[in-house]
Amino acid sequence: MSNSRHLWHFHGGLKLPSNKDISTATPITRALLPKRLTVPVQQHIGEAGQLQVKVGDNVLKGQVLAQASSYVSAPIHAPSSGKVVEIDELPVPHPSGLNALSVVIETDGEDKWIELTPLHHPNTKSPTELRQLIRQAGIVGLGGATFPTAVKVNAGPQAEIDTLIINGAECEPSISCDDMLMRNYAREVISGCELIQYIVSAKHCLIAIEDNKPEAIAAVNEIISEKALHTIEVVTIPTIYPTGGEKQLIKVLTQKEVPSDGFPSDIGVLVQNVGTAAAVHKAIYLGEPLISRLVTITGEGVLQPQNMDVLIGTSMSELIEQSGGYHKDAAKLIMGGPMMGFTLQTDHLPTTKACNCLLVENSPEKTPESMPCIRCGACATVCPAQLLPQQLYWHASSKNFDLVQDYHLFDCIECGCCNHVCPSQIPLVQYYRFAKTEIWNMERDRIKSDHARIRHDFRQERLDREKKEREEKLRKKKELLAKKKLAEASAKEADGGVVEVDPKKAAIEAAMKRVKDKKAAQKTEKEDAASLAQKNTDDKETLE
Ligand code: SF4
Ligand code: SF4
Repeated sequence: MSNSRHLWHFHGGLKLPSNKDISTATPITRALLPKRLTVPVQQHIGEAGQLQVKVGDNVLKGQVLAQASSYVSAPIHAPSSGKVVEIDELPVPHPSGLNALSVVIETDGEDKWIELTPLHHPNTKSPTELRQLIRQAGIVGLGGATFPTAVKVNAGPQAEIDTLIINGAECEPSISCDDMLMRNYAREVISGCELIQYIVSAKHCLIAIEDNKPEAIAAVNEIISEKALHTIEVVTIPTIYPTGGEKQLIKVLTQKEVPSDGFPSDIGVLVQNVGTAAAVHKAIYLGEPLISRLVTITGEGVLQPQNMDVLIGTSMSELIEQSGGYHKDAAKLIMGGPMMGFTLQTDHLPTTKACNCLLVENSPEKTPESMPCIRCGACATVCPAQLLPQQLYWHASSKNFDLVQDYHLFDCIECGCCNHVCPSQIPLVQYYRFAKTEIWNMERDRIKSDHARIRHDFRQERLDREKKEREEKLRKKKELLAKKKLAEASAKEADGGVVEVDPKKAAIEAAMKRVKDKKAAQKTEKEDAASLAQKNTDDKETLE
């Protein structure tokens, strides 16, 4: 029923021993409720969450500790009830080895939930409403990528998703949590598939499972038959590493190639992990946020390998202890699988949403000494991304970050195939990770300095504008005052009123007037006297 479908091949890849049986021999166990939970605020790709609690707060299981701070972000919830006893930069499992802001909860043993709001009939809700619930539940890709699921299932109004691919390949050796999830929770996985299919309006849903997982294939097929689902199909795919890579899986199932700088939605495809599908089921039907996940504890270095249902924030040391403890020869603790995982320096680190596996390797592996590249080309032969790993290595090691990008560094999925086959034992992936980190840092610095420049320009613009506004205001005020004075003067003149004069000026004018009047009076007196004298003379002449 599942394999009438034609399959395609992707370039390269490797056949590797699966080493999964040692952790699938026993049933899933539930990890004990720890006394302390350390919950990092950022466990996803995108912006860190914004804290919503402070030291001393009592919290319930499922309560929001940090809210999503932007579109590409996810909230973080309390994995159990208790008291917040510390908020600080603490060690987290990350290749950088850096600390990150975390909330420490001292659990009260009651494991008391917040009030949950299960949704019994999701089909009465719109895709947008369901996406919102997924967002509130803090669901991220549980295959390891931890990209916020609400963003991924919102491909945009232009994108038409024809095929939803549910990734149950779990191609990396040693990891078996997806296998055990499908075997034991196939109903929840299928329910999540139906929900995501409804949200993105996908016509088909293909659940891809590698052929080394017959129990999982049977369990999932049973539920599909029982529910008579005609648009959901299990596709059994060959066990070749890394078939579970998003682009490789799309190629195998559809023959389509995702463009180098594009997304699967560009070619009408959406890929989600089986664990993510089960988390979507829990969020919608039970109202439960993402506060736990299945983790594979495995490797020769641990005494009782198993799969555990673990609360996020549980210390890895407790998981190892509950798995029988370390073998006396245990030498190396890896988060993830042997190909894509990274070495941890300590087990006193919290389990995060990204943690699918803790692998303990035994025999102290003698770190092989690197030799110069002999240009054998073996790395290019196995590269599933069809890159030139040796070129990437040369440019990354010489810190030529422009050239390394010309060779499509960011198409490298860090699968480790090149490392695995390199006869010179060059730790190629370490060089690629280094180059990517450096480029991201440079990009971050560039964005920061761009932001700083834009902020400075805006400030300068604002200061100039305010200065001009002040000058304009002053000019208008002066103009208004002048007009007002003129109007007052005209009004008084029109009313025959006295124009207000300066008293000093008036006094001077009055004094001048008095002098003038006096002079005029003296002149008149003189003229009168002269006239009288003339008259007397005339009279005298007449008499004579
Ligand atoms: S496999 Fe190693 S030695 Fe061979 S070309 Fe690639 S980097 Fe060089
Ligand atoms: S790690 Fe990168 S370069 Fe190496 S094989 Fe995988 S995809 Fe290719």
